Amino acid sequence: MRTAVFPGSFDPFTIGHKDIAERALNMFDFLIIGVGFNINKPGNDAIVSDRVKTIASIFKDEKRITVEAYSGLTVDFAKRHGAGFIVRGLREVKDFEYERNLADTNAAISNIETVFLTARPEFGFISSSMVRELKSNGYDVSRFLPK
Ligand code: ADP
Repeated sequence: MRTAVFPGSFDPFTIGHKDIAERALNMFDFLIIGVGFNINKPGNDAIVSDRVKTIASIFKDEKRITVEAYSGLTVDFAKRHGAGFIVRGLREVKDFEYERNLADTNAAISNIETVFLTARPEFGFISSSMVRELKSNGYDVSRFLPK
């Protein structure tokens, strides 16, 4: 059984994230969506547990996906779940530079392999920060979010 972790902040979880999760399921038997949070930031717990519930409801009919919050290193989270792979999405060169560094670091401290999926062109421009910016300025962001 191949288990992968798809980690992120998912603030919020967009249709771009959903696409990566669904495509990862074509490669792995189980996918754990890990919502990372900083244990030192007070008040974060409630926000993150809400986020976990929202993402879990999106995948309520998909038994091979579970959603969980975690703090600390992604490789430790993956090891706790017996996951040998980390899935990440790549949109642009900027993502690649950042992600390669993370993947190399994780490879240096564990035997967990990072697998990259390139964003589909129709989702490549969508980011959580863009969605937050539009929303805070009163725009309807529903078309960027899963139903
Ligand atoms: P982080 O805070 O760890 O960067 P994000 O929640 O922003 O987490 O993103 C999680 C993962 O999803 C990252 O690998 C990111 O590159 C990828 N991602 C974000 N938006 C998209 C998108 N529109 N299409 C494909 N991958 C994406």
